[in-house]
Amino acid sequence: MTPARLADERRVAIAAVRDASRLCRAVRASFSPEHATAKSDASPVTVADLGSQAVVSLALADAFPNDPIAGEEDARPLRSAPGSPIAQAVLEHVSALRTEIDLDGLCEALDRCNDEAGPAGRHWTVDPVDGTKGFLRGGQYAVALALIEAGKVVLGVLGCPNLAVDAADPVAGIGCLFVAERGGGAWQLPLDDAGEVSEGGQAAERSIHVSNISDVHVARWAESVEPGHSSQPEAAEVARLLGITAEPIRVDSQVKYGLVARGDASIYLRLPIGGYVENIWDHAAGSLLVSEAGGAVTDVDGRQLDFTTGRKLSRNRGILATAAALHDQVLSAVTRVLGG
Ligand code: AMP
Ligand code: MG
Repeated sequence: MTPARLADERRVAIAAVRDASRLCRAVRASFSPEHATAKSDASPVTVADLGSQAVVSLALADAFPNDPIAGEEDARPLRSAPGSPIAQAVLEHVSALRTEIDLDGLCEALDRCNDEAGPAGRHWTVDPVDGTKGFLRGGQYAVALALIEAGKVVLGVLGCPNLAVDAADPVAGIGCLFVAERGGGAWQLPLDDAGEVSEGGQAAERSIHVSNISDVHVARWAESVEPGHSSQPEAAEVARLLGITAEPIRVDSQVKYGLVARGDASIYLRLPIGGYVENIWDHAAGSLLVSEAGGAVTDVDGRQLDFTTGRKLSRNRGILATAAALHDQVLSAVTRVLGG
């Protein structure tokens, strides 16, 4: 399945996301309120966000020391309170994977992810816990890592520790890893590294594809749990115009892209509220996953996502990701509702 060009990057990114996802699960298993705090913008940050970003940063530094990284977090929560329960817990969790690490090394690893991104060269982008609110609720979240070359996402890996392997098969287990490489298709692997072949002799990784429904009335659609992240009333109006009667699937994080990529949903609507501008790490991996699975991803104005503009998608607003056959129809409805 692996096109040769990015084989090393793919292998390193998968291993880093697996390690980071395991760390998140371990943090979650012994979580207490003192393991979360608020950032200056009032959004939550936890031991998992900081630990996960440090693990990914260290893995990329080992394998690709010259590659810049644009990540969501930085070391401020640790530097401002080095003796805090958060700092101690991050150090403990990261030490389980990196025995030699100390607080300075942790802070360096976190602050290394300060790249401004932009149109030239290659850089990684990481959201160490996408959907922190979902993580805190015990819901869905994702570890999202992508490689961008000259403004194009070329590799995306999503670790989804709480997502069912197969929505139709409850005994198939929990924990998925999605991988997409530009021109190389979209794949789902078990999050837990069971090797390339499962016990039954089946390949543990499978190629995934968007839903092949052609009638939009029967589409299932996904949106944010958080009403502040996407306009739910306007999305309901879009669904009504399209004749969709199903209720939305509300999940946090880029898990929504995973659901569209493997056909559990056919539409992901993210309708902007106010002038909010999206972060690249919230969409780089997921958007490539859906495109490589046969979907179409644009913003709500029908524009391609433009990853040349730095850490923010400042030439886009909102997201519309669908099975490709539905995109024109859904975009028309979105345009009507948003008054474009
Ligand atoms: P979701 O889980 O899909 O709701 O998305 C989570 C992401 O939403 C977080 O990683 C934030 O970066 C992002 N976010 C924060 N505020 C907003 C907002 N006002 N509108 C859209 N997305 C936001
Ligand atoms: Mg995020």
